Amino acid sequence: MHLLIPAAGSGNRMKAGKNKLLLKLNGESLLYWTVKAVFLSKKISWVGIIGQPFDKKEILSSLKEFSNKVNWITGGDSRQESVRNGLNNLPDNASKVLIHDGARCLIEPELIDKCSNELQHNDAIILAMKVVDTIKIVNENNIIKETPNRDFLWAAQTPQGFLVSKLKHAHQKALEENWTVTDDASLYERLNWPVKIIEGNSINIKITNPVDLKIASLFLN
Ligand code: C5P
Repeated sequence: MHLLIPAAGSGNRMKAGKNKLLLKLNGESLLYWTVKAVFLSKKISWVGIIGQPFDKKEILSSLKEFSNKVNWITGGDSRQESVRNGLNNLPDNASKVLIHDGARCLIEPELIDKCSNELQHNDAIILAMKVVDTIKIVNENNIIKETPNRDFLWAAQTPQGFLVSKLKHAHQKALEENWTVTDDASLYERLNWPVKIIEGNSINIKITNPVDLKIASLFLN
């Protein structure tokens, strides 16, 4: 199975002044831990790292023993554009692809295996968690408009997996129609194509704010 890792973000919310994936976490870069989990999965045979050209040297050297096992792909200005570049640089024999955010460094290799297995039998899958909080939809003044029924709410994570031909088509359509999305499953939804949810776990957080780094450090220990 082929797997793409979007790693071309800026880390503004982390207030790090650099790509948050290059921040140190228990002695290694954050991205090192993500890549290590991917290589511990038994199902992944090809890994593409999507990054900004100015981060290339530092990212590759931070990956240590994995640096010459990954394929470098130039990222774009948004996650969506980065993934589109990733898809266009997959080898010709890639029929299905998993996409896993570099910022989710606590992913368990067994969950990557599970996603890969499910993707063998489905066109599109995502890892997600049932929402435990009560979610509020608000207006622009933060006044609550609605409380959706929690029984139908899931928080999307990655890996997300797709048929390469269909996801490429969806990204092309998004480009033409000016759709902007924050995950790839959203593109399938816009086209009314089904996406299956696989239940993940709550350890698989996306490192976003400084406190997440502390949580990740504890878990990696
Ligand atoms: O910013 P956020 O954590 O939501 O981004 C999710 C993932 O997408 C991160 O791993 C980040 O590096 C990646 N990304 C990207 N290209 C961008 C912006 C974000 O690959 N232009």
